[in-house]
Amino acid sequence: MEGPIGQKHKQLEFALASVSELSSSSSAAKSKPVVARFSADSGVAELRFLQESESIAAINVDLQTAKLFKLGPVQSVCISEGSDSSKETSYSRGVSIQFRNEEESRAFHCTLEQRKKEILQGKELQLPNGTVLDTRSKFDDKIEPSSSKMYFHYYGQLLHQQNMLQDYVRTGTYFAAVIENRSDFIGRVVVDVGAGSGILSLFAAQAGAKHVYAVEASEMAEYARKLISGNPSLSQRITVVKGKVEEVELPEKADIMISEPMGTLLVNERMLESYVIARDRFLLPNGKMFPSVGRIHMAPFSDEYLFIEIANKALFWQQQNYYGVDLTSLYGSAFQGYFSQPVVDAFDPRLLVAPPIFHVIDFMKSKEEDLYEFDIPLRFISSVGARVHGLACWFDVLFNGSTVQRWLTTAPGAPTTHWYQLRCVLSQPIYVMAGQEITGRLHMIAHNAQSYTIYLTLSTKMWGPGAEQEGILQTSSCKLDLKEPYYRMSQPQAYPLAQDQQQHPLISTQDIPIQSQDLEEAELMQQPSPNSDAQLNSIMGNV
Ligand code: SAH
Repeated sequence: MEGPIGQKHKQLEFALASVSELSSSSSAAKSKPVVARFSADSGVAELRFLQESESIAAINVDLQTAKLFKLGPVQSVCISEGSDSSKETSYSRGVSIQFRNEEESRAFHCTLEQRKKEILQGKELQLPNGTVLDTRSKFDDKIEPSSSKMYFHYYGQLLHQQNMLQDYVRTGTYFAAVIENRSDFIGRVVVDVGAGSGILSLFAAQAGAKHVYAVEASEMAEYARKLISGNPSLSQRITVVKGKVEEVELPEKADIMISEPMGTLLVNERMLESYVIARDRFLLPNGKMFPSVGRIHMAPFSDEYLFIEIANKALFWQQQNYYGVDLTSLYGSAFQGYFSQPVVDAFDPRLLVAPPIFHVIDFMKSKEEDLYEFDIPLRFISSVGARVHGLACWFDVLFNGSTVQRWLTTAPGAPTTHWYQLRCVLSQPIYVMAGQEITGRLHMIAHNAQSYTIYLTLSTKMWGPGAEQEGILQTSSCKLDLKEPYYRMSQPQAYPLAQDQQQHPLISTQDIPIQSQDLEEAELMQQPSPNSDAQLNSIMGNV
């Protein structure tokens, strides 16, 4: 048996016994040996049937619309919306193919299916001359299409942009950072990475930018155009570019980039990667980034009520007679499931049992790949004796302006933002004494649904006699999916405390009271809507 010819092009060229056009009365094509070649010379994926030793295609088939039917072991027919090599007319056409043997018929069918799949996925196409037509962007390469579809659908809706705009801590800090640092914007070219409603582009234009390119991938780009043209004094200096920052082309490079790419725990949504890709594509050397640095802050916490609340959720599965059904075989899985959800809410900083540490992500220097996976070593000295229920996390970002440096923080105790804070809860709490060291590791691995798998380990070393042996006394680990948080804000606050109880910092291991939100009523009124966040939670698993 002879394999497909043209080995160096792998299976891209096939020798056929004959071909004939269904509409053609001529049988000329049948008489000579024929070659079928998969090509993409003109950027369009085509299947060409050529007379062997001739370079002019006898018949061209557009692979995008081609359908191949097997009529017999060595006979097939290929139907498509034909596109002539002369590009005269487009009409439905059919080609009858006679293979030399069954194996070649099968290989040809496989190749055509594969090519069609690649076209559908927009995957890179290996051309016969060995070059690669890369139609996929860095974004498409790593993100599941169903995830990005939901993601951009979400951001395409005004209500979700409004939710961010109504986070006055967030938007107000951006406004202040831009306006206080006019000198960084006056006469400068700005790129707004993920412009959303266009608000940051409008701020940059207010601060005197020469021109702002507002890049937005979702349908929100259309609304941004409307919003911007509704502000005629600024609109001549803003161009909305609809598309992904990984894919669009801009006419000039930027002096400064502005963006709000932060998700829960800073990195959720994986938009920081888009921010650094945009930096590499569009920012001039020595250009500025607003913000330029992000920090993830972490500290162990003790919150008995939260722990019990989560553990209790799984109790449902301990029923042995649920309408006559024993549910207990699923109890373990349900318990694991609840503890794999990071908890998003605003907590009282007095629940922290040790001074926090932080991990820096430098947006100016980070490589996109640095964000695929990172490891944060943890080491704390407990200020109190407590049962540690897990790790509390929050973040801040820096606007390193030439005039004023400003941090946007999401810390507990600071005015609450729509990001709240995040807590990873251990299913097995650990006990610490005041002054005891807590070590561990937070390992983050990005996944293709625009989020991360979190691996947390916390350990306490031996205390008292024998401590010098450095033996590990207790260690507790958990695996969480940042995409599936438990949005606790939407739950009623169950155990409000008397005012005096709230004044004491955490001191005992025993009755750690749940702290009601330590906020003035007026502040509560300004909280971002928990319901709209819960919606994002259900869609994106984040904010
Ligand atoms: N800058 C706006 C919106 C921030 S939300 C504001 O501060 O209010 C982030 C926005 O970035 C969303 O609208 C989202 O659709 C967009 N986005 C996320 N990834 C993107 C990408 N790779 N390319 C272009 N836009 C993106």
